[in-house]
Amino acid sequence: SAFALHEIICDADGKPVDYRFLLANPAFERMTGLKSQNIVGKRVLEIMPDTEPYWIAIYGEVALTGQPRSFIQFANDFGKYYEVEAFCPEPGKFAVHFLDCTESIQHKEKIEHMAYHDALTDLPNRYLFRDRLQDMLGKAVRNQERLAVVMLDLDDFKLVNDTLGHFAGDELLKVIGRRATSVLRRGDMIARLGGDEFVLLIEGIGNAESVTMIVEKLRKAIYEPWLYNSVAYHVTCKIGISLFPEDGQDADTLMKHADIAMYRAKELGKGYYQFYLPTMERQVSQRMEIEVELHRAVDNNEFVVYYQPQVDQAGDIVGVEALVRWEHPTRGLVMPMEFIPIAEESGLILKIGTWVLQTACQQAKQWTVAGISPVFMSVNLSAHQFHQQDLLTVVSDIVASSEISPQRLVLEITETVAMGNAEHTIRVLQELKSLGISIALDDFGIGYSSLIYLKRFPVDSIKIDRSFIHDMESNSEGKIIVQTILALTKNLQYIAIAEGVETFEQLEILKELHCDQMQGYLFSKPLPAVEMTQLLQIYSKGGDNNGICPPLEYKQNSGASF
Ligand code: C2E
Ligand code: CA
Ligand code: CA
Repeated sequence: SAFALHEIICDADGKPVDYRFLLANPAFERMTGLKSQNIVGKRVLEIMPDTEPYWIAIYGEVALTGQPRSFIQFANDFGKYYEVEAFCPEPGKFAVHFLDCTESIQHKEKIEHMAYHDALTDLPNRYLFRDRLQDMLGKAVRNQERLAVVMLDLDDFKLVNDTLGHFAGDELLKVIGRRATSVLRRGDMIARLGGDEFVLLIEGIGNAESVTMIVEKLRKAIYEPWLYNSVAYHVTCKIGISLFPEDGQDADTLMKHADIAMYRAKELGKGYYQFYLPTMERQVSQRMEIEVELHRAVDNNEFVVYYQPQVDQAGDIVGVEALVRWEHPTRGLVMPMEFIPIAEESGLILKIGTWVLQTACQQAKQWTVAGISPVFMSVNLSAHQFHQQDLLTVVSDIVASSEISPQRLVLEITETVAMGNAEHTIRVLQELKSLGISIALDDFGIGYSSLIYLKRFPVDSIKIDRSFIHDMESNSEGKIIVQTILALTKNLQYIAIAEGVETFEQLEILKELHCDQMQGYLFSKPLPAVEMTQLLQIYSKGGDNNGICPPLEYKQNSGASF
């Protein structure tokens, strides 16, 4: 076996301070790669640096117990692990047997590593994070330091998986893990909790502002373009932060509170971050309650579709937009902004959206049967719906079964959804168009748009977001923006629809700017089907009336305000 003889070098008090190689056998040379002639006479600590604690321990053990031998394990500089068995053949000498146990140790370490690390990113996992956080809390108490737990969740990660595939999703997670790690300082820590959720531990922070700075850095690092198949994507995330000691005394509470804060950030929208506040707990539980109730609402079919007219320059109703509401058994009518985002996140939107589409198409069919002159039926498609695999089948089945003309159906997708993955958008839109359906780009102007893509999108109409219409009256800049958007849509030969028209002044300006169609409270709020039917009977093209939607009439006939 591999064997070396050490001479013990003691100080004046007889305390061993070092060891010197007296001898090494060929097996030792083979195992360690050290040549006998190079080491004999040399100090052990010079040849095997950083092993001092081991020798002290083993010497102490042998001296203390009086046992002739003792074992110890250590790793040397070359990453090799030895199990050492030593005994004192005579005072001042130390006979050492070396056993190479590198493989078994590495195996053990690997298994331990796997138990505490995430396989994809190789970052620590929840258990390791929790352990270390607990340790750090002890230290923070002793040093009277503050810590921050930062919970991070990517926006639209599901979309990445759905549209680019799981391989891309995995790549993105690795990239995000590296980027998040890059903003950490010594002593900080990051872990992947699973899915697209990460958690960071920030040490020794002064105040909330210094956390804010780090969080800003984190967001910026994550937002850097991510190149995949030579397309640049921007990733945003929501972040929740809890602070020690104010927001919790133990690891679990701090992590839970950071999670709640993140949940709250999620409600505010993409890219938000939030510090934990005790009041959040209630808000979050409300949200969870809504989610539970939504499941029931889907089963019991508690939804109802309202319709809002779209009016052309002549004052005829040329289309309606289907807008869903939730008839809550105790709360009454719940508006979509309160539940659509939750439905979107829980995946329930697929069922709800399909139902809305079906209901709207059936309604359109009923109107045709009732002899009402045909109008466009616009239905909103959420991001999740737009990316669902079988969208085309779902839509074409509904169109076929309701027997409406696909030419009368308009699907609305928001500008943000469309721009998210432009190539994918173009493909899906083309497929939908091949069914004869029209496409409207919703909430136009508030997202970021690339003109190049805008031109390539096979859309038919553009809905100018109501914030622009609102600003139009009050400042001349607002008007110029709308004018510019209208010029753009004209050039691209899209139909322009102004959303949220509320006043006659806005209507006048839009007429002057030749906006094709308008929608808003000035004409009518969204109405239940029965009331919408009456409105259509009067104001659609060829309706009973000569077709000028009510407010205009009021104005012309009586000057009454709406
Ligand atoms: P949206 O698609 O932009 O729909 C227009 C919203 O503006 C509607 O709100 C409508 O009631 C409101 N609105 C119309 N005219 C005016 C106006 O003059 N002034 C003001 N202040 N608001 C006006 P609603 O019905 O609450 O819907 C909100 C959002 O919820 C919709 O925004 C849409 O994004 C979503 N949504 C509604 N129904 C559905 C649906 O069936 N599926 C999906 N995926 N989303 C839906
Ligand atoms: Ca819409
Ligand atoms: Ca809109």
